[in-house]
Amino acid sequence: MKGLVILGAGPAGMTAAVYAARKKVDMALISKDVGGQMLWTLGIENYMGYQYIEAPDLISKFDAQVRQFPIEQRIGNNADSVKQVSGGFRVEVDGGEPLEARVVLIATGKRPRQLGVPGEGRLRGRGVSYCATCDGPLFNKDKVAIVGGGNSGLEAVYDLLKIGSPRVNLISNTPLTADEVLIEQVRDNPNLTVFTEHEVVEITGDKRVEGMRIRFLKDGKEQDLEVGAVFVEIGLQPNSELVKGLADLNRWGEVKVNPSCETSMPGLYAAGDVTDVPEKQIVVAAGEGAKAAIQMQKYLQRLG
Ligand SMILES: Cc1cc2nc3c(=O)[nH]c(=O)nc-3n(C[C@H](O)[C@H](O)[C@H](O)COP(=O)(O)OP(=O)(O)OC[C@H]3O[C@@H](n4cnc5c(N)ncnc54)[C@H](O)[C@@H]3O)c2cc1C
Repeated sequence: MKGLVILGAGPAGMTAAVYAARKKVDMALISKDVGGQMLWTLGIENYMGYQYIEAPDLISKFDAQVRQFPIEQRIGNNADSVKQVSGGFRVEVDGGEPLEARVVLIATGKRPRQLGVPGEGRLRGRGVSYCATCDGPLFNKDKVAIVGGGNSGLEAVYDLLKIGSPRVNLISNTPLTADEVLIEQVRDNPNLTVFTEHEVVEITGDKRVEGMRIRFLKDGKEQDLEVGAVFVEIGLQPNSELVKGLADLNRWGEVKVNPSCETSMPGLYAAGDVTDVPEKQIVVAAGEGAKAAIQMQKYLQRLG
């Protein structure tokens, strides 16, 4: 049985791995990818030490810092469940051997919320995207739609207009909720059409997105829009399913932690965006990962 298994190689998990490795904790790091949500953005201007850094650069610096230690890494692996066993926890890994450890850190972050409409799943990666910042440039000659009237939706509108999209349709099922400053900077753009209080009924297309159907919530009237891409920007949801029933979650599904990153289950820790700690940022996630590692090492020491 290992001392520690860390689930997730975003800023929280990778920072925790470095801190724990420096304390010589015997551990494994399991993650679907390296970088987490940093993979979805281009440039970062608010990670201390860098006035500006391309996200792939920051990820490779994090990765190199982890790799200088002899940590067992299982990258490309999905952790399916965490169960309590005598003396610790058992982590079931998709397509791999299960791992047992006395302590587990949940650093699995968040993923984009989905619309749940017909066509969305089938056309994902074929015009349906959850990151306008990442995929917008691929569709700069197409008419596009952005779903979501919050800050991320309006930022996406700004980016797509800037890169020359001939028509940007913004669809929100409520009045726009983004900061006024973001709304102001696109409001008068002739290439923008705003549909508030509209919902998406369906995304259509054979091999690629070709259009979508929307419905006006006030009178139920439906209309078709011709678009080559749909960017879904309706927020993120925590990857906390694997500890549901094991640790307490809040109403948004975030893992509840105390200031020492302890969950309600002794020996199970959590850090970063998957938790109820406010403000989802790289520097916050990294800080929480560091804190969790120090606390977990102390816990392991107490276990003897
Ligand atoms: C488009 C975008 C732009 C952003 N820009 C900035 C910015 O400029 N500055 C800033 O400070 N923050 C920014 N953020 C927020 C920042 O990226 C997050 O706060 C941060 O990445 C959270 O780190 P984390 O380690 O908690 O989780 P994540 O980064 O979400 O990483 C979680 C990791 O867990 C893995 N994982 C999930 N489930 C499983 C599982 N079951 N099994 C195995 N592995 C799993 C994932 O693959 C991933 O590697 C941005 C976010 C987005 C989406």
